[in-house]
Amino acid sequence: MTRLFGTNGVRGVVNEDMDMTLAGDLGRAIGTWLKIGKVAIGTDSRVSNQMLKSAVSSGLMSTGISVIDLGEAPTPAVQYYVRENADMGVVITASHNPPEFNGIKVVAGDGTEFLKDVEKEIEDIYFSKQFNIPSWKEVGSMTKDDPLRSYHKAVLDAVDRELIRNAGIKVVIDCANGVAGLSTPYLLRKLGCKVITLNAQLDGTFPGHESEPTEKNLKDLKKMVVNVGADLGIAHDGDSDRAIFFDEKGNFLHGDKTLTLMAKEIVKENGGGKVVTPVSSSSSVEDVVKECGGELIYTAVGSPIVARKMIESGAIFGGEENGGLIFADHQFCRDAPMTAVKIVELLVKENKPLSQIIEELPKYALDKRGVPCPDDLKEELMNKLKMTFSDKKYDDTDGLKILYSDGWVLIRPSGTEPKYRIYSQATTIGRAKELGDKHLTKLEEALNSLKESV
Ligand code: MG
Repeated sequence: MTRLFGTNGVRGVVNEDMDMTLAGDLGRAIGTWLKIGKVAIGTDSRVSNQMLKSAVSSGLMSTGISVIDLGEAPTPAVQYYVRENADMGVVITASHNPPEFNGIKVVAGDGTEFLKDVEKEIEDIYFSKQFNIPSWKEVGSMTKDDPLRSYHKAVLDAVDRELIRNAGIKVVIDCANGVAGLSTPYLLRKLGCKVITLNAQLDGTFPGHESEPTEKNLKDLKKMVVNVGADLGIAHDGDSDRAIFFDEKGNFLHGDKTLTLMAKEIVKENGGGKVVTPVSSSSSVEDVVKECGGELIYTAVGSPIVARKMIESGAIFGGEENGGLIFADHQFCRDAPMTAVKIVELLVKENKPLSQIIEELPKYALDKRGVPCPDDLKEELMNKLKMTFSDKKYDDTDGLKILYSDGWVLIRPSGTEPKYRIYSQATTIGRAKELGDKHLTKLEEALNSLKESV
């Protein structure tokens, strides 16, 4: 590994690239960076959690840091705890990756994920091995605490409990054998909903299905929603920072739908305000925000970037279309149990079937495709593309987003794979595909001419 931190912390296959030595040294690097204070550490439900948590904790304590062990908890619950009670946080999780993976994610003292600059500083200490090694009497100690009680209270306080309690909502929740099982069913039962669960036992072998909340992995949930006549279905990823929904007819709702719906609701409630989302998000978000008198701010792709921009701009809401929504009144990170209760509240307020509420949102079609591109050509290709499209109107916040009167095309290098991605959006799928084809050809031409000149 030449670099440690990827798009979402450090990840790898357990006992291959993600082992005890790496975890211990990363703990030492984090502790050396922090210098003094308390670090809270929580995990998702993976088999290797105890091993990695112990190793990171040992590393931290060896540098003089005190550790608070939070056990298994949703990532947003750990983040909420850190903001109130610790100087920094660590989450042992590989989110939606297969069970053999695990990862280590660092959280800043304000509960928000760090941006790349701090990760780079920690990484530099890790590779230099210049760890802080204090004398025996300054070694840190470890205590335990429960992050769930205060987190659950905060989530329940964020909604109109009486309103939901009297509505008789029936909901099916698929927890993907992850840590959502500790929170979302409990919260919705507390709110008087009739809750039916799938895969709610914590099991790091993920016997139910893979922990990525895709339509393909959620066939049982889809069926169950229809069979029991539920008002909605909710699914989470393994560490419970993302929530995906099904309407009462069993239709899978892409994350852009709930992002748009929640943006509309919050801006309407506030009579305006700023909303933050990456350039890759559907134009439906911008449409509803503007329609309700709000302002939309676009950022580069990545939830830590969205969260930091929200703090900086005083935004009231933000999120990504993978189901990661951020509620500024609550905390500046993606929070799936919070999203679940907020969507249920919205459903009760609207007093209409979810399918009908979704039907009223602006509709756009999105076409996505990938083109292999060697990592070492990515930057040059982007420069060349900017020249190719210099006569067009574009936004280069992240990659190149070329704006047309009836749609847009976003061309950007993948952060994790030797690939370029092309997203094209229009009001019909035919036009979105047409835009995709046209830009694919342009990209391939540019790439071929670069390869020839090498
Ligand atoms: Mg996740």
